[in-house]
This record gives sequence, C-alpha cells and structure tokens, in this order.
Amino acid sequence: MVFAVIAPHQSSISRTRKMLRSVRRILSFVVFLLLATTRVFAQAPQKEPASYDLLITNATLVTMDSSRHVIENGIIGVRGDSIVLVGSYTDLLRQAPKGHMAAQSIDAKGALVLPGFINGHTHVPMTLLRGLHDDVTLDDWLRKYIFPAEAKNVTEDFVRWGARLAAAEQIRSGVTTFADMYYFEDAIAEEIKAAGMRGVLGETILDFPAPDNKTNAAMLGYIEKFLKRWQNDPLIHAAAAPHSIYTCSAKTLQDSAALARKYHAPILIHVAEMKKEFDDSLKQNGLTPAQYLDQLGILGPDVVAAHCIYVDGGDRKILASRQVGCVHNPSSNMMLSSGVAPVIEERAAGIAVGLGTDGPAGSNNDLDLMEEMDLAAKLQKITKMDPRALGAQAVVEMATTEGAKALHMEKEIGSLEPGKKADIILISLDEPNAVPMYDIYSQLAYSLKASDVQTVIIGGRIVMRDRKLLTLSEPEILAKARDYEKKIAASLNNAAAP
Ligand SMILES: [Zn+2]
Repeated sequence: MVFAVIAPHQSSISRTRKMLRSVRRILSFVVFLLLATTRVFAQAPQKEPASYDLLITNATLVTMDSSRHVIENGIIGVRGDSIVLVGSYTDLLRQAPKGHMAAQSIDAKGALVLPGFINGHTHVPMTLLRGLHDDVTLDDWLRKYIFPAEAKNVTEDFVRWGARLAAAEQIRSGVTTFADMYYFEDAIAEEIKAAGMRGVLGETILDFPAPDNKTNAAMLGYIEKFLKRWQNDPLIHAAAAPHSIYTCSAKTLQDSAALARKYHAPILIHVAEMKKEFDDSLKQNGLTPAQYLDQLGILGPDVVAAHCIYVDGGDRKILASRQVGCVHNPSSNMMLSSGVAPVIEERAAGIAVGLGTDGPAGSNNDLDLMEEMDLAAKLQKITKMDPRALGAQAVVEMATTEGAKALHMEKEIGSLEPGKKADIILISLDEPNAVPMYDIYSQLAYSLKASDVQTVIIGGRIVMRDRKLLTLSEPEILAKARDYEKKIAASLNNAAAP
C-alpha cells in the first residue's frame, strides 16, 4: 500500500516517527474505508450516526400501514428482529442529520419492498404428496390415495423433509409466516425454526387414530407438551388444531380449545368448508357450523377458521363479534369444487379475512400466495359477474395486513412499521412481466410472480438473498423429495396388489 513506503536515507528516529505516522494514516484510512462502506448517507464527518443491524435503501416501500403509504426512495432500519425506522430518504436525513450506519445493507433499487406474505392455511408436509392423484372427487382422493399414502408413509422423517421442502418453496415465493395443521407438529416446529421462518403451527386432533398419536388422550398429551415447549418463542407460535366439526366430537373440540386457552395459544380449525358439512350440521345439531361452534364456546379472538365458505349473514355476525379470523383459500376451493367463500360480505361484516394456499397436495399443489391473490380477486369477479367486486389492493391486504389480523398477529407482522417484526421481502421489477408499472397493487395482484421474489428477511435475518436460499440446502431437499416420490409410489403399488 502507498502509505507503507518509507524513504531509505532517513535516520532511525525520524524513520520510527514516520512509521508511526504511516501506521496512524493506515489505521485512519482503514477506519475511513469501513465507515465509507457502511455509511448510507454521504454527509460531513459525524460522530454519532444512528446505527442498525440492517439497512434497506433505495426502496419503493409498499408499507401496508393503516394509511397504505407507498414511499419512494425509502429506507428501512432494522435492529435485532424488529423494524425501528421506516421513511423516505429526505425525511430521514432531516431526522437524523448525523447519518445512518449499518452492519449490513441492501440496496433495493429496482425492487418493491413489502411486508412478507402470510399464508394463513396449509399442511406443509403434504408437499411430499404433491400431485399424487388429482382431478378426482374429494372422497376418492382421500379414500383411495391420501389416507393409504399417509398411513404407510407419514413418519417424523416424512414431516421433517416435507416441512423443509415447504419452507424452501414458501421463502422463494415471499411467504414469511404461515399457519399449518398436521401431525408431528413439534418436529415441524424444529424445522421451521431452523429455516428461520415464522409459523403458527397447529398439532391436529381428530376422533380417529393419527400417524403420530393413536388416541384422543395421547393427542391431548402431545398438544400440551408441544404448547409448553414453544411458549414465548420468537418465531414459533404453537397451536392446537381440532380438525373440523365433521372429524371431532363436541368433547374433542372443547377439550382441545380449553388446552389451547390454558396456554394462550391459537386454535386452528376448518370451518364450513363443504356443503355437506353445512347440511349435516343443520341435520345433526339444528345449527349451522358457525352457530354450533359458537354454542360449544369454541369461537373467540384466538380462533383461525380456514375456508368459511358456508357462512350466512347470521354466521358472519357471529364470526365478527367473536373476532374470529377467517382464511380464504381460492385455489383449493376451486380445485375441490368446494364453493366460493363470501369474501366481500365477510370483509364488509368486519371479519379479518386472510389468504391461504391450503394443500399443497390435491387441493392446490403449490404454496404460491401471490397466485392466491390473483385468484381471490378473479374468483369474486366471475362469481359476482362484476370486475369491481374484489380489487387488487384488497387482495394484497389479505396477503399482508389483513392476513396478520386473521392470525391475530397484527401487532407483530403484516406491515412495514417501526415496532413490527422485520419480515420484509424484495420483489424485482426488472422482469418482462413487471414493466411498465402504472399501479403497484395491480402489478402485485395480477402481473408479478412468486419467481420475482428476490430477497427475503424474516425477523431481521436474511433467509434468501438474490434468490439464493441461505438457511436451507435446496439440492439436498429436492433429492430427498424425489426419493420420497419413489417410496410413496411403491407403497401405493404394493397396497393395490392383491
Ligand atoms: Zn386445510
């Protein structure tokens, strides 16, 4: 380096002085370089710039805050797992004249920056059963394919690899939080935490033997241990998941809800997802599914109800007054021909309605929440025969801020605001399907794709950068999924043999 050059004829004292001066110069140059690389604003020398663990700059921020601010040339500061600063470059220069420094920074030029998407309902290990047998009736699909495949293959190892595959797929599509209902949910929680994702994870309980627990008592015991283990975890919200009114007795519903409430845990349940469920409930209980659940004392501000298709005006009033969150799954509802949820009426009644993929086997086949935004809007438009029925901004809300409310997590996630968790995604606009852009919400709902998601941050940790997953080994996961494909196909062939 030039600073280290010393002339040969100098005396040793002056040489030493010169050397010390040179060392000082080198040190100050190194310090200058360090500051220059991390300093975001080129300002006059400053003593105490605001410091962050992560800064996102040059951003078009789609904040999804209550005023739906979109900030051009915006900046987000993150400390620990939370957002501490959101604003425009010029506002922030005024507020913090000494500048901003960060351990890490991301230049978001050419990208939209949003709160991470929230997948309000799925069954992640079923990624390994993706496309096993489609285009058959729900009854055939369950009886001939899924139940035999699950009975022979669902083990703790299966759910771990399925959860990893789902985490990779969801991070790639900008999902930062999801709600899950399956078995061995404790193992799923371990995998999801390792992947750095946020999850509301519900251990399923029903009135017939499950792959992990064969009796109701064993299921309740498992749930209690599971809820206790994950109390106060920053990423994992352990939940109880009574499957539905058509697979759980009143006692199972009430016991599991009481257990969840003992630990202040959420309750995940399928509600009014089929016409048959609605008709049977009327016949057996003289009540709609929503009325029946209300009468049992299940409904409350801790319940996340998947589907809510067969809910009439009275049911919507009940759901709203009990502050139940609903999750709409348009792909699944179309694929299984379940019906069309009255999403517009639910929103009008004051119910928080999120979006979910359901599936991914049989009832969707992927975990792409951006596709659900697109389909949610179009499904309402065609059902109402009115293109104004459900608009682009509404479905982006359902995937973010309303989705957070549906999961009762609006204090934590769903928007880019100081105090919220730093769950942030960057979506590239440098794609043929992304230009020109006249309206951001339209672009998000109808033009941009999951594959345009470029960088994903969850709780302040970068889990995907420039489309490279940083917390999961993608080649290993894909190889294992292909192994499972062979194993599961063989198990069904053997089952079919006499
Ligand atoms: Zn489901």
